[in-house]
Amino acid sequence: MPETILHVDLGAIAQNYATLQATAFNSEVAGVVKADAYGLGAAAVAPTLWQAGCRTFFTAKLAEATALRLVLPEAVIYVLEGLAEAEIATFVEAKLRPVLNQPVELQLWVAVARQAGRRLEAALQLETGMCRMGMAETDLADLSPDLLAAIDLTVVLSHLGSADEPASPRNAVQLARLHEIAAQLPAAPLSLANSSGCFLGPAYHLDMVRPGAALYGINPTPGRPNPMRPVV
Ligand SMILES: *Cc1c(COP(=O)(O)O)cnc(C)c1O
Repeated sequence: MPETILHVDLGAIAQNYATLQATAFNSEVAGVVKADAYGLGAAAVAPTLWQAGCRTFFTAKLAEATALRLVLPEAVIYVLEGLAEAEIATFVEAKLRPVLNQPVELQLWVAVARQAGRRLEAALQLETGMCRMGMAETDLADLSPDLLAAIDLTVVLSHLGSADEPASPRNAVQLARLHEIAAQLPAAPLSLANSSGCFLGPAYHLDMVRPGAALYGINPTPGRPNPMRPVV
């Protein structure tokens, strides 16, 4: 049977990281390595990104994050799918940070923090119009303020729904919503841009950008020349 071999150019991934850092030069560039680094193999891709200067990583699932912890003992690792009660011990032991998407997850993490006697780090995801994941403003209004004060909010993030359409008015609406809601929360670094969002201009870069696809060579600017190097 003929074999199919996927060649992954790790050097090109490092160059793409540098391109994104040059684009969002005032922001931290985190690496999104969910789904096994988009199928390219997180065990090889993540250390390449680390070498290129990446210090913060996002996985989707807890199992991806614990595997990543073994290869990157010093990295900051967030789990986008958040936190379930049965997963708490693993999060704490592997020093992973949940992305809190619902009030119940925040309540869980606060309980863990109170038991540990320290403010544990976490990200908070806000729903700003994409109707995907994250807490709505009404969720936050219902929370008692001491909950957010009990954890270390290391990033407040939201996800753009139309970043690959620079002319879409949704982008500016989501950016404004993020600023508006974040102003009511304890001060924390902000993050909105995925790959395409990095190319919407400096207002979208905020404190951290979160590219995935562009690192792996996919054009973040459809209809225009690809600024990324091919990887596969
Ligand atoms: C997948 C994902 C990203 C990366 O998106 P790309 O379009 O691949 O750059 C960023 N943030 C969140 C929350 C994601 O789920």
